[in-house]
Amino acid sequence: MLKVMVKAPAKINLSLDVLYKRQDGYHEVEMIMTTIDLADRLELTLLDRNEIKIISHNRFVPDDQRNLAYQAAQLLKERFQVKKGVAITIEKTIPVAAGLAGGSSDAAAALRGLNQLWSLGLSMGELAEIGSEIGSDVSFCVYGGTALAKGRGEIIKELPAPPTCWVILAKPFIGVSTADVYKRLDVSHVKHPNTYGMVEAIYNGSYEGVCHNLGNVLEDVTLKIHPEVAHIKDQMKRFGADAVLMSGSGPTVFGLVHHDSRMHRIYNGLRGFCDQVFAVRMLGDRHRLD
Ligand code: ATP
Repeated sequence: MLKVMVKAPAKINLSLDVLYKRQDGYHEVEMIMTTIDLADRLELTLLDRNEIKIISHNRFVPDDQRNLAYQAAQLLKERFQVKKGVAITIEKTIPVAAGLAGGSSDAAAALRGLNQLWSLGLSMGELAEIGSEIGSDVSFCVYGGTALAKGRGEIIKELPAPPTCWVILAKPFIGVSTADVYKRLDVSHVKHPNTYGMVEAIYNGSYEGVCHNLGNVLEDVTLKIHPEVAHIKDQMKRFGADAVLMSGSGPTVFGLVHHDSRMHRIYNGLRGFCDQVFAVRMLGDRHRLD
């Protein structure tokens, strides 16, 4: 095999809770994540020389060892003494530093794709474990679908597909550093979301239950730094979204809505003053991502 194409879908957090700060410095989290139909595309080309090359035409995406897809390739290379190389072309669609796990999903897609390209024969579980060494969200991104993630995000319990609806995403023209948001979080004063209420709503296929239980403890932190995020939330509600939440550490805000006509109204209303707006579906349960 000389070339492999892989899709790297973005995720949203239907809920994100931080339980406490651990002795090792990481935060113990409980997150419900689901992949959405907004994806980067990676083309992996086998190189005979021992080299990892990143090609990206997005000025916000590093093309060296800082790129998470590069780190994925390097880790596999070292661990399995791979002598061949790879050129990874990343066609970026997911907004960068947006709370949508774009970099993590690129790393996960690189792991899945290189498993084929370099004929490593690793299981998804093994890839997810290797992924956790690159970043907390990479394990989830290896599997995709919908899951409850615990620990620092690497302990994954698969969930069924949430009820069908539209997801409208709006990202203001600011980037947010996840590390900075976690640093400012005061865990003793957060309002915890009802994670297991959300799990139940998903199992029951209850759209109202999903809307009711959306929650993210990082939201208040980011809203304080970037009041424009609160403004987008208000606008989304005003245009008719059933429920609205910030994803991850932000600044992307997503709204859920059932009806096509209202989806169009929200989408068109937000495009006027927002940098990037998308209307997509959730991908649902686990499926082949390649
Ligand atoms: P998360 O939701 O997991 O916190 P995010 O969506 O907020 O992630 P990313 O889009 O992954 O953030 O980007 C964060 C930073 O990671 C960027 O500023 C960029 O410098 C770096 N980065 C490394 N690799 C990539 C990649 N493949 N795509 C985008 N950014 C990358």
